[in-house]
Amino acid sequence: MTVIEQNNAVESALPHIDVWAIYLRKSRADLEAEKLGEGETLARHKKILTELAARKGMYVGEIYQEIVSGAESIKDRPEINKLIEDCYAGKYRGIIIIEVTRLSRGSQGDAQIIMDCLKYANRNQGLLVVTPTKVYDVANNHDDEEYMEFELFMSRREYKMIKRRMDRGRIQAVVEGNYMGSYRPYGYDILKTKTARTLIPNAEEAPFVKLIFEWSVNENLSARKIAERLDSMGVPTYTGDAEWSGATIKTILTNPTYMGKVKWNDRMQVKTMVNGELVTSRPRSNHTDHYMEYEGKHKDYAIVDEETFKAASAKFHSDRTKANLKLKNSLAGIFRCKNCGHTMAYQAWEKKPTTSPRYMHRQSTKCKVKSVIASDVMNAVAHSLKLYIEEFEMKIDNLPDVDENTITAQIEALQAEQRKIEKKLAKLFDAWEDEKISDNDFVQRKAVNNNRLEAIRKQMDELEDSIPEKEEYQERIMYLSDALDALLDETLDADVKNEYLKRIIDKIEFSRENDEEFILDVFLK
Ligand SMILES: [Zn+2]
Repeated sequence: MTVIEQNNAVESALPHIDVWAIYLRKSRADLEAEKLGEGETLARHKKILTELAARKGMYVGEIYQEIVSGAESIKDRPEINKLIEDCYAGKYRGIIIIEVTRLSRGSQGDAQIIMDCLKYANRNQGLLVVTPTKVYDVANNHDDEEYMEFELFMSRREYKMIKRRMDRGRIQAVVEGNYMGSYRPYGYDILKTKTARTLIPNAEEAPFVKLIFEWSVNENLSARKIAERLDSMGVPTYTGDAEWSGATIKTILTNPTYMGKVKWNDRMQVKTMVNGELVTSRPRSNHTDHYMEYEGKHKDYAIVDEETFKAASAKFHSDRTKANLKLKNSLAGIFRCKNCGHTMAYQAWEKKPTTSPRYMHRQSTKCKVKSVIASDVMNAVAHSLKLYIEEFEMKIDNLPDVDENTITAQIEALQAEQRKIEKKLAKLFDAWEDEKISDNDFVQRKAVNNNRLEAIRKQMDELEDSIPEKEEYQERIMYLSDALDALLDETLDADVKNEYLKRIIDKIEFSRENDEEFILDVFLK
C-alpha cells in the first residue's frame, strides 16, 4: 500500500463525524479592555470555545480569527466572508461562537446575510449555532429563529421598547377580558384562539369548585373544614396531591375568576434592596390598592354567580367590593395640597357635562387654595413626565460608554492584570532586597506599577458602577414613558392611567402663588 492508500484506508475506517467551525472576533468593548490589559481576548475566547467543543465531542475543522480589530461591518471582515462561503459549500454542521452578536450587530443588511446563511446553508438544512450558554437551530426551531433575529437585529434599546409595548399589550388584553395568568385556575382550562386567551370549565374539577362555594356559603364551613371534606372524599388537588390546604380553599373562594371576571395586578412586582442587592418579589397585595377587575370573556362559563362569590369572599376580604367602584380620578392617591398635605379632590358634575371637572381643596379653616381645571393639571403632569424622561436620557448619555454584555469580561481582564502587577511588585521587592537593582530603580518601578494598579482599580469601580446606574435609569425611563403614554391615551380608563402613574410617581403637590397660575411639584418613587 502507498502512503496515500494507507491514509484513505484509515479515513474510511473512521466513522463519519460532523465538522464545526469556530469564529473569533473582538468587539469594541474588548479593545477598550485590552488597552489596560495584555490583549488576550481572542486567546481567552479560543480556549473557552475549543474546550467547549472538546467537552461536547465536536470536531473543529477550522478556526476563523478576524485580524481586523473592532470592525463591525461584514464587508470589512475577510474571515466572516470566508466562513459564510465555506458554510454554503457544506463544510460545517455549525458555528461555535462566544456570543451571537460576534456574528453581527446592528446593521440590518449584515444581520440578514448572517440569518440567510444560518437558515439556508447545507442545502436548506441550516447551521447550528453553539454558544457556551445555548444551542440555536434557526432553520428548524421557530423560537430559536425569533431569538436569533432579536439578538442580531435589535439593539438593546429597541429590545426594551418592544418589551415595554408587550407589557402594555398585556394590560390591555386583561381590560378586554382575556385571562392572562400563566397557570390555569383550578376548575378551568386555558383556551387559546387567534384573538383571545380565555377559560373553559374543566369537567372533572369545575363541579368541586361549585361545591366549595356552596359549603362555604350555605353550610358556613371554614376553609380548613372544606379542605378536610375534600380529603375525605379523595378529591385530587390541582397538582394531583391527596391533601388540600385551607390556604388553597381560601384562594379559590376569593378568586373573582369563578364569577366570570378577570383581574390585573393582583400581585404587584416589588423591587427592594436586601443587603445591598436588588431583589424582585411579588408579595400578596392587600386588595385595596393596586387591583382591578374586568368582565371576562369566559363570563358565560362562570362557575358561581356574583352573589354567591361575594358572600363567600366577604368572609376573607370585607373591602372586596371597592374594586367594583369605577375610578374617575387618574391622580387618586397621589395628588395633594403642598401647604397642608390634604388630598386634592376630583370633582365632576354629572348633571352639567359641559362643565369641566376640577380638582379642589376640601373645606378647611386653615388652608384655602383656588380649585383648578383637571385637564390643565393632566397636561402639566404630562409635561413634567417628558422633562423627567429627558433628564434620565441625558444622564444615560453622560455615563461612561460601556457594553453591558461584555462588562464582566472587562472586569475579569482587569482583575487578571491586577494580579499580574501585584506579582511583579512582589518580585521587585525580592530583587531589591537581594540588591539586584538599585534603590532609584526600585522606587521608580514601584511607582510605575502602583500607578497602574491605581488606574485599574478606578477603571473597575467605574465599570461596576456603570451597570446598575444605566439599568436603573433605563427602568425609570420605561416607567415614565408608560405613564406618559397611558396619560395621553384617550381610550384608557382613569383607573388604568392611575395604575401607571402610581408605579413611578410618589406624590404630586399642588400650590399657587396667584390665582392665574398653579405650581406642581412632582416627586418620583
Ligand atoms: Zn391645603
